[in-house]
Amino acid sequence: MSATKNQRVILVTGANKGIGLEVIRKFAKSSSYNNDIILLGTRDLKRGQDALKQLDSPLNVHLFQLDTSSSESISHAVDEIKHKYGGQLDILINNAAIWNEGSTVNEARELLQTNYYGLKLLNEQLFPLLRENGRVVNVSSSAGPWTLYGYSNELREKYLSPSLTIEELDRLIEDYISAIETYNLKTLGYESEIPISPYSFSKVVVDILTRIQARQWSGKKNITTYAVCPGFCSTDLNYRAPGSRSPELGADSILYVVETPQNELENGEFYRDGIKKPQSFQPDIDLGNLIEHVNKSKQS
Ligand code: NAP
Repeated sequence: MSATKNQRVILVTGANKGIGLEVIRKFAKSSSYNNDIILLGTRDLKRGQDALKQLDSPLNVHLFQLDTSSSESISHAVDEIKHKYGGQLDILINNAAIWNEGSTVNEARELLQTNYYGLKLLNEQLFPLLRENGRVVNVSSSAGPWTLYGYSNELREKYLSPSLTIEELDRLIEDYISAIETYNLKTLGYESEIPISPYSFSKVVVDILTRIQARQWSGKKNITTYAVCPGFCSTDLNYRAPGSRSPELGADSILYVVETPQNELENGEFYRDGIKKPQSFQPDIDLGNLIEHVNKSKQS
């Protein structure tokens, strides 16, 4: 099943439901991808098989087992691309993520393991397999820029420093985790209009990682990297919150950076619904209802 020279290999992580599944559905329906190999990433094969059935098992969509929180699973996945798909990749959509309360250090670590560390490791390991003009899309959230907006000026400047390295970013993350344990987040400048949660924090650091990797990789095989907010969509992640839109629209927001010509996009930047947004901006939806809904759903 090695990919031919003209066939693209496209991987979407966490694609057995929600927005990721809608991205796959759009690939499967569009004639532009007929000739490509679409890998439906799923950590659980049974859930992946059910998703494939929902799509009527299109011939160009293949199940791809990958738990992004596990370095072992990431190694297996990289080997699979090497041995089964000709060692090439054209588009990587890092969509898998979890949400949890993150009130304890363990919860925060668990969340960051999937939402940040796993994504970073997968990008690092797959980068060598990306072909000329490859694209990496890190699915983020507006919760990232909204959260960064509330941080102290000093802290925000650290994150936005154009010379920040991944090692320095990782140290900031470890300091954040330690500060949860010692109740010191505010002292470090972690303040925000929206609740300070490790989920929102994970999206801040995914956006910053996107900038750093775009800088590191620019000029190498013309690979570009973008962060994208799919918008507020009705999925399991937010307990299908009222007022949220269809995950299909979220998929469109992601597909914008996949399909728009490279010269119309800015490498390393953050996009939502086809519009480049700043790395930090004031919340532009009413979060009160969402927070109330999530709290109620957790209790029931
Ligand atoms: P979802 O319906 O909960 O889907 C999340 C997907 O990620 C599921 O397929 C889940 O698999 C998978 N996943 C979780 N942990 C994984 C792991 N360790 N390895 C592999 N797969 C894993 O959520 P969604 O709303 O579609 O979210 C998709 C992306 O959009 C996420 O990055 C999320 O942060 C972002 N986002 C969503 C919204 C929103 O309003 N929904 C807003 C902004 C950003 P299982 O089925 O096995 O759990």
